[in-house]
Amino acid sequence: MAIVDVTDQDRDTRGTGFDVDRIREDFPILRTRLDGPQLVYLDNAATSQKPRLVIDAVSDYYANTNANIHRGVHRLSVQATDAYENARGKIQRFIGAERREEIVFVRGTTEAVNLIAQTFGRTHIDRDDEVIISTMEHHSNIVPWQLLCEERGARLRVVPINDDGEFLLDEYENLLNDRTKLVAVTHIANALGTINPVERIVELAHARGVRVLIDGAQAVPHTEVDVRRIDCDFYAFSAHKMFGPTGVGALYGKLDLLESLPPYQSGGDMIKSVTFEKTIYNDLPHRLEAGTPNIAGAIGFGAAVDYLTAIGMDNIASYEDDLLRYGTKVLSAIPEVRLIGTAREKASVLSFVLEGIHPHDVGTILDQRGVAVRTGHHCSQPVMQRFKVPATARASLALYNTRSEIDALATGLRQVIEVFQ
Ligand code: PMP
Repeated sequence: MAIVDVTDQDRDTRGTGFDVDRIREDFPILRTRLDGPQLVYLDNAATSQKPRLVIDAVSDYYANTNANIHRGVHRLSVQATDAYENARGKIQRFIGAERREEIVFVRGTTEAVNLIAQTFGRTHIDRDDEVIISTMEHHSNIVPWQLLCEERGARLRVVPINDDGEFLLDEYENLLNDRTKLVAVTHIANALGTINPVERIVELAHARGVRVLIDGAQAVPHTEVDVRRIDCDFYAFSAHKMFGPTGVGALYGKLDLLESLPPYQSGGDMIKSVTFEKTIYNDLPHRLEAGTPNIAGAIGFGAAVDYLTAIGMDNIASYEDDLLRYGTKVLSAIPEVRLIGTAREKASVLSFVLEGIHPHDVGTILDQRGVAVRTGHHCSQPVMQRFKVPATARASLALYNTRSEIDALATGLRQVIEVFQ
């Protein structure tokens, strides 16, 4: 099983020590052939592939340390607890959080946003208050706020975007007012690749005493994230998009804010003591983690952080930036391609339509050639409405992708165009 040819340009082009050939060897699935053609995996915004280190960490836990955490005195339980809590520490350091209690394990970004909507939202947002989001949000950073606003009689306000898919800071400033209680925006937009000016967004909100949640699902695999520098109040992300397992993610929250939240889900582990008269809740972060968590997932998440840290987020960002520029150039050279999302600050996503050809047909024909892209609305229907398209095809890049794979995408697209001529 051969690996896609890697051109010299792919290898360590920038003198950073970043060797894509070596990196590809860490991902067993990249050697897959799909009934013939070599897999070219360009659907990383949906979920990324997993390196051997992560796969081994998960299977090693099940093979050698499997036990429930926190309550056991036996050795396996202590080892499992240590591994789970160590993973929390790795994630804390990875995003620059001050305390490990500020990291709450959740199922993923979706659960993190829902957690804040149901705890912070229900206690701080009342009739006629306002929540600000933007046009480029993923549905999981829209619907929880819609539900909350319906329940509380509050109002959802939406920051528009321009034709390049950029967040309009002036419009945002105009929307901020005395009724604004929360701003919830994405760091990097999954359907467009736009990198938002999150530090400025937070600064403007804080000037009015408004709290900010950042959806970091698409940011953490591609760029260095420092929650203290951003100064956001909450930051949400999923392990599976950053080379970790599915079903686990993290919510960062500033300690005093997390302390002030009411319980989210209730049950075991989130309590100190229970009688029928009164329950005393546990300390953070356990107070927000009811029930047996995804222990193996958290351990694999920690391994994914180790993996990214060893390569270096700066190296990853600069390699991917080069790849994105190359991809933009190659796709722009195909006259039938219309790129959706051309922000000046952009990461890892090439979303496009081919004139007169439905994106699902594009995706299906590319798949026959081994090229995996996503087609559809990418859980961002308001973005599709903004650009007046029903759907797009999206090639989303990760650290193991190469210029040769982008060439394979372009060749595939030319073949799609021929089929429809
Ligand atoms: N936000 C963004 C920007 C995303 O791209 C995604 C996943 N596509 C989510 C939130 C939801 O993440 P999850 O499904 O892992 O909860």
